[in-house]
Amino acid sequence: MKLYLADRVIIGDGEQVIDRAAVAVDDEGELVFVGTQEETRSKFPQADVIRYDGCTILPGLIDLHVHIGYWWNKPDVAQYNDGMIALLAANNLKEALSLGVTTIRDVAGPDGLCRTLKTARKKKYIVSPRLFDVNQGIIMTGGHGWPLKGGMREANGPWEVRTAIREQIKAGADWIKLMTSDRTATPEFTQEELDTAVDETHRLGKPCCVHASLQPAIQMAIDAGFDTIEHATFMTVKQAKQMAEKGLVWVPTMITFFQIADYCRKALEHAPKTESAVHEHLKEQGAFFMESEKAYRENFAKLMETGVKIATGTDIVLDGLPITPVADEIALMVELGMEPIKAIQAGTQNAAEVLGLGHRMGTLQAGYLADLLVVKGNPLDNITALQSVHEVFLEGVSVFASGTRGKETTPST
Ligand SMILES: [Zn+2]
Repeated sequence: MKLYLADRVIIGDGEQVIDRAAVAVDDEGELVFVGTQEETRSKFPQADVIRYDGCTILPGLIDLHVHIGYWWNKPDVAQYNDGMIALLAANNLKEALSLGVTTIRDVAGPDGLCRTLKTARKKKYIVSPRLFDVNQGIIMTGGHGWPLKGGMREANGPWEVRTAIREQIKAGADWIKLMTSDRTATPEFTQEELDTAVDETHRLGKPCCVHASLQPAIQMAIDAGFDTIEHATFMTVKQAKQMAEKGLVWVPTMITFFQIADYCRKALEHAPKTESAVHEHLKEQGAFFMESEKAYRENFAKLMETGVKIATGTDIVLDGLPITPVADEIALMVELGMEPIKAIQAGTQNAAEVLGLGHRMGTLQAGYLADLLVVKGNPLDNITALQSVHEVFLEGVSVFASGTRGKETTPST
């Protein structure tokens, strides 16, 4: 038995905070008690005590929108054979732990990659957050993401959509993902195809998510009833209310839109004034991402107030950036009007419920898995404290401690 003491524990349910608190963790990696330091110490006088002065303990963060093996953005893309992609993914998983992320949902990647990662994790070849995945994303022929070789499965018409879904489940998918909007108002799948996808996925006992950024694809996705709607960048208040009524969850992934808009702004500043193909591409894409950023800024608070359940996802696709900045997505939610404790809930309890694991993780209470994030400072006073990761536990096992990665040295030969 171990007791971890901190200045406070944030339970993760959007309400409870215990000051001068402690959590008790047994040898199986489960929480047996959460309370004040006094209560906990008197209950378990024999336990080892570890103090985190000046720190806050909260549940490990959950990222519902990750592409863990996203290799298509690499400048030396030709080097990425299957082995290199697996190594990249393993490194990304390790990085996710260092950012306090203990559970991930991968929402489209190379065929079979996540199944391999899950096997490697079980064999203890890699240290990794808990992993859920969709295997490949399902798109119409030429739909969103089609150039991402191996990561997308093209399907057209209800029966082919059903076949594609069955293939993903055969490949070990826990979820199904469809993409149905790109950068224009033209929706990609028909309503019939979307309805069929939800029907087939639920019929086979799995949940489903959908990439829908623009109108009318967002409305079509809501009507079809996907369990989570990814992005929904230009969603209206009326649609958020519909989602709340239907119990559908919104995963806005704002951080990626803000990052790409920023990238485009900088790239445009430095792009040559001549009308090069790159410049044209950025102008085209940049306009979409800047409009997206504006929409989130203007609408997030209004959409939040409808009561639609919101959960965290990050969707990082720019090369060189941390793969799972859930803390940054939470900080953005706070910047746009959400209370810090509610934004933390979006990354803990809400996300755990999306995964059907609200009874095992996402909050800190007796009988739950000891996925713990220890941060320096108090994120309720300053949300960026979530980025000061001190230590991370996955089912009671320390999987990251601050400074350890920095101390690793790589021989030059
Ligand atoms: Zn994505």
